[in-house]
Amino acid sequence: MLLTKVPVLDLIADWGGIRAIEIVRCLDGSNEIAETELATRLNMDMHVVRGTLQRLYESRLVRYRKERGQDGWWIYFWSLDPLRLVELVDRDRLRTISLLKRKLIFERENHFFRCTRGCIREAFDLAFEHDFLCPRCGMPLVQVDNAFHVEEIHSYINTLESLPISC
Ligand SMILES: [Zn+2]
Repeated sequence: MLLTKVPVLDLIADWGGIRAIEIVRCLDGSNEIAETELATRLNMDMHVVRGTLQRLYESRLVRYRKERGQDGWWIYFWSLDPLRLVELVDRDRLRTISLLKRKLIFERENHFFRCTRGCIREAFDLAFEHDFLCPRCGMPLVQVDNAFHVEEIHSYINTLESLPISC
């Protein structure tokens, strides 16, 4: 369930890189999978699989068990820790919501100006300080409507607030 939510997938990619999404999806619902098996199933280079799992392990999102194979080499079996995933997602979710709420207040309480060439966007105080001229290119700054921006932030807060806390 959690693995279908875009913000959660973004987070997994942040922790383990873009390939981590496929690996976590593959581990989800399995007890444990040998890393060689993961590489085969996902048609992924063994080094990529190992590197990705190591990064996920740093966040303790995955666990491993090792067993000596018949050829004497260690075989690593990996599993997903779904409770840890919920914990990490929730921690990040609350932090992001708090940041977005502060940003929303700032957007609602200020008027914004943008360079006509698109270099910068700044609030009234700063635009006033710059005499309503772009500090980078010298072109005039024009007032912009931030209603769409406000709505986007608001909608993202709603999405994050409605994320399920369980897998
Ligand atoms: Zn400019």
